[in-house]
Amino acid sequence: TSEARAQIGVTGLAVMGSNIARNFARHGYTVALHNRSIGKTDALLEAHGGEGDFVRTETVEEFVAALEKPRRVLIMVKAGDATDAVIEELADAMEPGDIIIDGGNALYTDTIRREAAMAARGLNFVGAGISGGEEGALNGPAIMPGGPKESYESLGPMLESIAAQVDGTPCCTHIGPDGSGHFVKMVHNGIEYADMQLIGEAYNLFRDALGFDAKQIADVFTQWNTGELESYLVEITAEVLNQVDAKTGKPLVDVIVDAAEQKGTGRWTVKSALDLGIPVTGIAEAVFARALSGSRTQRAAAKGLASGVLGEKPTDVAEFTEAIRQALYASKIVAYAQGFDQIAAGSAEYNWDLHPGDLATIWRGGCIIRARFLNRIKEAYEADPALPSLILAPYFREAIEKAIDSWRRVVVVATQLGIPVPAFASSLSYYDGLRAERLPAALTQGQRDFFGAHTYERIDAEGKYHTLWSGDR
Ligand code: NAP
Repeated sequence: TSEARAQIGVTGLAVMGSNIARNFARHGYTVALHNRSIGKTDALLEAHGGEGDFVRTETVEEFVAALEKPRRVLIMVKAGDATDAVIEELADAMEPGDIIIDGGNALYTDTIRREAAMAARGLNFVGAGISGGEEGALNGPAIMPGGPKESYESLGPMLESIAAQVDGTPCCTHIGPDGSGHFVKMVHNGIEYADMQLIGEAYNLFRDALGFDAKQIADVFTQWNTGELESYLVEITAEVLNQVDAKTGKPLVDVIVDAAEQKGTGRWTVKSALDLGIPVTGIAEAVFARALSGSRTQRAAAKGLASGVLGEKPTDVAEFTEAIRQALYASKIVAYAQGFDQIAAGSAEYNWDLHPGDLATIWRGGCIIRARFLNRIKEAYEADPALPSLILAPYFREAIEKAIDSWRRVVVVATQLGIPVPAFASSLSYYDGLRAERLPAALTQGQRDFFGAHTYERIDAEGKYHTLWSGDR
């Protein structure tokens, strides 16, 4: 095994790493395997060693020696300090021109730092966002590699071959320099949060406004998955709602505690959006809704708080079902539009020259937000790469025009029934804000000038103005 013959090495053989290693091997590559503790390496070889050509290694030195040059190593370890430790060890054993790929969920600013440190040592560092969970890792994920363009020449074809394919196009492309791959993966996850929250709000309305049980709601989602909402998340929503609990015989969803957890990529997306000044209200509401659901002590204490007078439940079930579908679709357009705005802002901030149409293309398969809808986004950016907002693309503009009355009605009914719809409502408010003739920001500017002499602009003349307000002391 000391012969340098592996085309790729994978270190970190937990669920993601072992599945990607198998994916490479199934595509005919010789894969060197490494894990901090040998147990995972041997477990992988024992269970799946026959699937392809693997090279078992124990030490980092052995691992690096098993690779043909330029060496390519994919790191799939826990994000954070573990990744830094593994990079250091690898960098000491590797040579200029070799390629280190971090396929973990790194924070993009860490990737920017790591890329600079490795470049200073002559190594190519590729931060690659990988989406699709364990199933995607094995059968074809969406891959978002950043880093030096030169490294993509030798690495790209390998990554493209193991990625998901849609209409013959791989769900992998070179994203841009340094942290850009992890940045777009982060925003992808943020959009995923928004999408899940919107689906959750639709589910909640069926349950609490229409009195549907889990099975009935599953049937609605199954039906929706045949239309413009067709997507992986809508598909699995139907499956989750159809699942029966073996212990109680009840729908499983009804015995799961209603407190959502999060690992952090949604929160990162919102923090970055705050720094960039981009209103990603859909994603932010989704992150906060999970936080609210998890505030169990407060929620237990708040049960029984006044609701005010509640409205009547809708009586035309078919009509309201369609209204919820329209509200979901319109809110989803807003959430994606906001995510793409954040990508444009990140691109400008870091000089990444990102291409939104390429992202829509590679997100059509492999990843969690894969959806028929992404074809429409791809087409919108093909028609106008400088689109100021996705909402303004003719297709989406018309979709919202068609949905708008239903969307308002759903938010009104939910409000009258005391059913929380933070993402539906804030997406609608965002839309109304965007299209407004005049916003209350004029008053905000007046207040700022009043107490802080911050100045304002006039509608009828150039320049900055300050008023000696009558209240000035
Ligand atoms: P994980 O639980 O995040 O990490 C476990 C792996 O990290 C093990 O191989 C472990 O080695 C290794 N490790 C931990 N600390 C280490 C250290 N200090 N030095 C060396 N190795 C260390 O595994 P995962 O769920 O497969 O995820 C891998 C990466 O992919 C993560 O960055 C994750 O965020 C990302 N990701 C995950 C998913 C998903 O659906 N799970 C999707 C996309 C991306 P030992 O066996 O020796 O403990």
